[in-house]
Amino acid sequence: MKKLAVCLTLSLAALVPFGQDSKAAANFTDVGTTHRAQAEIYYLVEGGITSGVSETRFVPEQQVTRVQAAAMLGRTLNLNGEQRATNFKDVGKNNFASGYIQQLVDKKIISGYPDGSFKPNNTLSRGEMAVLIGRAFEYKSSSVSVAASSLINKGIASGIADGSFGETQTIKRGDFAVFLARSINADFRTADNEKFEHNAYVDTKDGSKLNLRTGPNTSYPSIASIPSGKIVSYSYSVGEWVYITSDNVKGFVHSAYLQSDKPSDKPVVTPPTSPTPTPTPPPTKPVPTPPGKKPLSDITVVIDAGHGGSDPGSSGHGFIEKNVTLNVAKKMEKYYDKVPMKAKMTRSSDTYVSLNARGAYASKVKGDIFVSIHTNSHTTGSANGTETYYYTRSAAVNPNVSQSKALAKYVQNRQLEAWGLTDRGVKVMNLAVLRQNTVPAVLAELGFISSSKDMGIMGTEAGREKMAKALFIATLDYYYYYENRTDVLPLYSTVNATPSGKLH
Ligand SMILES: [Zn+2]
Repeated sequence: MKKLAVCLTLSLAALVPFGQDSKAAANFTDVGTTHRAQAEIYYLVEGGITSGVSETRFVPEQQVTRVQAAAMLGRTLNLNGEQRATNFKDVGKNNFASGYIQQLVDKKIISGYPDGSFKPNNTLSRGEMAVLIGRAFEYKSSSVSVAASSLINKGIASGIADGSFGETQTIKRGDFAVFLARSINADFRTADNEKFEHNAYVDTKDGSKLNLRTGPNTSYPSIASIPSGKIVSYSYSVGEWVYITSDNVKGFVHSAYLQSDKPSDKPVVTPPTSPTPTPTPPPTKPVPTPPGKKPLSDITVVIDAGHGGSDPGSSGHGFIEKNVTLNVAKKMEKYYDKVPMKAKMTRSSDTYVSLNARGAYASKVKGDIFVSIHTNSHTTGSANGTETYYYTRSAAVNPNVSQSKALAKYVQNRQLEAWGLTDRGVKVMNLAVLRQNTVPAVLAELGFISSSKDMGIMGTEAGREKMAKALFIATLDYYYYYENRTDVLPLYSTVNATPSGKLH
């Protein structure tokens, strides 16, 4: 359990389940109740580790490819799946699994071929599978036969009919799901020889209870909650999550909430926030629509929760970007309930929406401004802070350069005010969601999901609520200052705020 030590210093608030369940209930017509891999496939789908080829088909009899295996392993370990350039000539940045492949290469879990290729669409052999799983889960895997023995001894795989491991044979998607689910959760194995030999204290830092989940990420349901300070026994880890047992219930918790020393009994007292100056409050009575402007009730703010569905975005500290962005977006949407302006969401559940469709949606619903919500990530974990993007290229589809830039400044300002993270500035960025848009558009990178500092606030309900409110107020600032709309002033009183001052 060497992983435990490095995570002990993290101080995060307890994992708070998001308001809504992130997964859609899958129902594959080709994985019936009697299918040999039924339980394992649905287990992986529940955790967002794999998905069907469509909502109704999993194709369990199809051979698993190297790229599919890499994506599943990357998601299992909660690696940062943000697409990026890779070392391989045949895996471009646009490959859906480019982020996972490069991360697995960096961690020496997967490798390519001597000619510089990865051959993403080659089928995976049983021998390759044994080595991959061996490296990902830190089993003995110095050679194919050693890796195969590890899987056999642990009850994860067995030999084939001729008594060998069948290392050159290919694997079907259904069987790979079985091997992966067994590697993750010992409950699925044919032999139960994992021991819970070590003890640790649960420490949620704030006295709240810790969720014990059925799998190693927050998409998995909580089956028990463990009081802070309790001693639990742990076995192995899956990425940064640890398989533990407490009161005879087995499950997973994030390693950030386990420590070897008894936590102090004193609850952590949050220091009071410095009092905000109270300038003259804005009027609460309606102000007439300024001449030449459409009524506020005709203004639509399009809120874009980044990623979703099969595109999880980045992940870290037990959180997945698509869930964080949706959570903040939904909270932001609520603030428009009390004002005449409307909000529309590009997605309001865990669904995949293409980047171009997001921009097209803004036009379709006659949106006036577009705010995309994302979390940043960096592989080393040292980068942190908040930044906001807009797009400026004059040849762009989106002509609203000065509006977008002003909106970005107001959004960045309120984000910094809300969370106080490092100011990484307002930046020009060529992103499809901004470029392929017809209204003033910005993309807010709230903070780094890879940073324990940033997650100290982004990982809390209260932090996300603050951010949602900040993004709402930023849209008021934009209309008040950039669009010269005095009728926005009374809306500030719905959240006890005042205009920011002119920034553009
Ligand atoms: Zn993102």
